[in-house]
Amino acid sequence: MTTPLETPTRHDRHGRWPQATSLEDFRRNLATVRARIAAACARVGRDAAGVRLLPVSKTKPEAGIRLAYAAGCREFGENKPQEAYRKWEATADLTDLRWSVIGHLQTNKAKLVARFASEFQALDSLRVAEALERRLQAEGRALDVLVQVNTSGEASKYGLPPDEVAALLRRLPAFPALRVRGLMTLALLSAEPERVRRCFVRLRELRDRLRQEVAQCIGLDELSMGMSGDYEIAIEEGATVVRVGQAIFGARATPDAEYWPS
Ligand SMILES: *Cc1c(COP(=O)(O)O)cnc(C)c1O
Repeated sequence: MTTPLETPTRHDRHGRWPQATSLEDFRRNLATVRARIAAACARVGRDAAGVRLLPVSKTKPEAGIRLAYAAGCREFGENKPQEAYRKWEATADLTDLRWSVIGHLQTNKAKLVARFASEFQALDSLRVAEALERRLQAEGRALDVLVQVNTSGEASKYGLPPDEVAALLRRLPAFPALRVRGLMTLALLSAEPERVRRCFVRLRELRDRLRQEVAQCIGLDELSMGMSGDYEIAIEEGATVVRVGQAIFGARATPDAEYWPS
């Protein structure tokens, strides 16, 4: 028998993480997050090299992004396409930087994403896939994509219900500019670790099932799950990408309702 994992969430710190304002702050925060990633991996016998840390810079100014870059970050996640595009333009001198769009996309913004993003983690409809494909073809670019799944059952959350994911995945090989990499989810923002963990387990089990059911030409290696308040639990449940904002940059002044429907 294995001991059940009792890793707590840090959602009690949501909105209260200290601001990072110096290079030293960013170095320390990144070191802390990386150490916690390594510890979570060790608890479940995973190799920490199998977990990618995606720093989330939404609402944070260019100065913070440059400090994070100086501290070693080479990619950033942004929720809103226009904000991401603006930051991409402002940091064009940092030529080895990659941008990941992790928020819901409207088809009329597909053109922006196609121009600069390396990855899109919130694919949730055929219409968005079609719009991205058309714009990517025009740009001569390709995009890594993850399908966003609603694992919490909250009506307010974006993402496909788990039982609709297979149907979308089966259509995606028709879009050669979209390189399907895996699934993404946001867990319940709950202080109760067991409720949070259940969302992550649901995403992993769905991925395992879809690997059997859906054609081999679809790649489903990536599980993007976990943020500042719950990435350690997500890693214990198999996350290969964690999206961490506040624990690196500090709390956001903008309320979350700006980014997640409530
Ligand atoms: C903002 C955001 C995150 C990061 O949240 P933090 O609490 O800042 O770590 C992760 N995923 C998505 C989709 C986000 O919009």
